[in-house]
Amino acid sequence: MSEFARRRQTLAARLRSLPSAQPDGPPVSVDALLVSGLASVRYLTGFTGSNGLLLLFPSSHAVFYTDPRYSLQSKTEVDCPVKIAKGQMLAAVAKTAQKAGLRRLGFEAERLGYHSYAFLQSKLTASVALEPLRGVVEEQRMCKSPEEIARIRRSVETNSEAFRRALAHIRPGRTREFDLAAEIDYRMRRLGAEKTAFETIVVGGTRTAFPHARPSAAILEPDELLLIDMGATQDGYASDMTRMLFLGRAGQRVKSVYRAVLDAQLAAIAAVRPGVTAGHVDRVARRVLRAHGLEKSFVHSTGHGLGLEIHEPPRLGRKEKTRLREGMTITIEPGAYLEGLGGVRIEDTVLVTSNGCEILTPTPKELLEI
Ligand code: ZN
Ligand code: ZN
Repeated sequence: MSEFARRRQTLAARLRSLPSAQPDGPPVSVDALLVSGLASVRYLTGFTGSNGLLLLFPSSHAVFYTDPRYSLQSKTEVDCPVKIAKGQMLAAVAKTAQKAGLRRLGFEAERLGYHSYAFLQSKLTASVALEPLRGVVEEQRMCKSPEEIARIRRSVETNSEAFRRALAHIRPGRTREFDLAAEIDYRMRRLGAEKTAFETIVVGGTRTAFPHARPSAAILEPDELLLIDMGATQDGYASDMTRMLFLGRAGQRVKSVYRAVLDAQLAAIAAVRPGVTAGHVDRVARRVLRAHGLEKSFVHSTGHGLGLEIHEPPRLGRKEKTRLREGMTITIEPGAYLEGLGGVRIEDTVLVTSNGCEILTPTPKELLEI
C-alpha cells in the first residue's frame, strides 16, 4: 500500500466521528468528505498539479477529480480512481454524491469558497446535506512521517545554504533590499528548491520594526540592522528561517535586544517536547522577553507548524491547547520590534522528537556583523 493510500485509510476511519466545526459541538458523522485544499489533496493522493478535488468515503474508497490538462499527469501521480471533468469538477462530484445516495457530505469550510459552495449546493438535491468541517486533514498532517521529515530536512538545508551563499553578495551602501532578495531566491532555486515558500523578506534599518515588511528599493546602508526571513519549498515541503545581520559594529542597545530575543528563542526551544501545549512554549518565550521589558514589543505568536504549507497547525500562540507530539515540525521565532530602533527576530525550524526536539536549521545564531 502506498503512503497516500495509508493516509486515506487513516482519514477514512475517522469520517464517522469528526470534531464539530462549532466549538464544543457534538462529533459529526459524514458519508463522505470532499477535500478541496490543494495541499491536503496532495497529501492524500500525491497530485502536484494546481486543480484537483478528492472525494473520500468511510470505506476508504476515494475518487480524484481534475480537469483535462492533468489527465496524463494524474495517471502517473495519483493511485486512486481518477475522473477527468470536462465541465465543472464540482458538478462531477455532485453527480457521484447523488449516485452514491449520500445523506451527509462533509466539506472543508475554510477551503471551499462561497461561490463553489453555492454551486455545489445547487447541484445537490435536498436529500444530501452539506456538513462544514474544520481542520480535519490538517489535524492528520500535523505529525510528519519519516519520508516527510526527510523532505523537510532537505528543504531546510537548501534554505540555509542559499542564505550562506547569498551573504557574499552584500555590499553595504550599494546592495538594495530587492537585489539581496533576488539573490536569495536564485540561490534557492539553483540548490534544488522548486520555489520560495513565501515572499522572501529582506529589510534593513528601522523598517526591521515592521515584522512582515516587503523588500524595497532601499539600499542596505552601513551601520544598520538587516532582517532576512526566508523559506524554500523543496519536493513540496517548506522550510522557514529568520536571521539578523548588522552591517558594521552593533551598538549596546541593539546587542541587548538581540540577546533578549535569543534567550527567549533558546528557552522556547528548550521547552519543546511531546505532551506540552503549544501555548506553554509561547508563554516561555514571552516570560523571557517580559524579564527584559520587551513583552509588549513581541507582537506575534512564537511559531507555527510547517510542511506542505508554510503555515499549518499547530499555531504556537498564547492560548493554544494543542499538545505537541513526536514528528511535528514547527518554527520557533520570537521577536521584538521597537519603533525608531528596529526589530529583531530569530527563527529556526524544529522537529519534535520522542524526548525533546531537534533544531533542523544549521545556520549559526549569533548576531552577524559584516
Ligand atoms: Zn519566517
Ligand atoms: Zn515562520
